[in-house]
Amino acid sequence: MILKIVKYPDPILSRPGEPVTEFDAELRKLVDDMFETTYASQGIGLAAPQVGVSKRLTVIDLSVGKEPKDKLVIVNPEIIFAEGKQYEEEGCLSFPEIREKVVRALKVRIRAQNEKGKWFEMDAEELLARCFQHEIDHVDGMLFIFRMSALKRDLNLRKIRKLQREGKW
Ligand SMILES: [Zn+2]
Repeated sequence: MILKIVKYPDPILSRPGEPVTEFDAELRKLVDDMFETTYASQGIGLAAPQVGVSKRLTVIDLSVGKEPKDKLVIVNPEIIFAEGKQYEEEGCLSFPEIREKVVRALKVRIRAQNEKGKWFEMDAEELLARCFQHEIDHVDGMLFIFRMSALKRDLNLRKIRKLQREGKW
């Protein structure tokens, strides 16, 4: 089932998600729906707060559904190591039409649980590292617009307000 994606400035996007404690059929259904919703929007990642569920859960798939092995379910994640710097363009399904360069660590190691509750650690760099940081920000209630320079943030907030006035947001 394709879920409705919550757009900025819905307050759920700015609220830290609750830890996931039940690894049950309901969670698996939410994960399946989140992947379906990500693919329908041609996205590479989605966090539960973006579909109105305030939980520490994200799904990531850099292949956008083409490679089953690229499907990652990241539950209760934390970044345990970060190094280096990258400055690349990002988008966000909760900010349609907004794309902007954001500073991120080049490499990260995360610790998280999978959809069955099993803990794992995973290293990532470049695009996947950026995706981890973007999605883990979401479960912490942090949005990429607040990682931009003040100038770019203001420009984008103005663009959003204009789209809202025109009924296009
Ligand atoms: Zn996002």
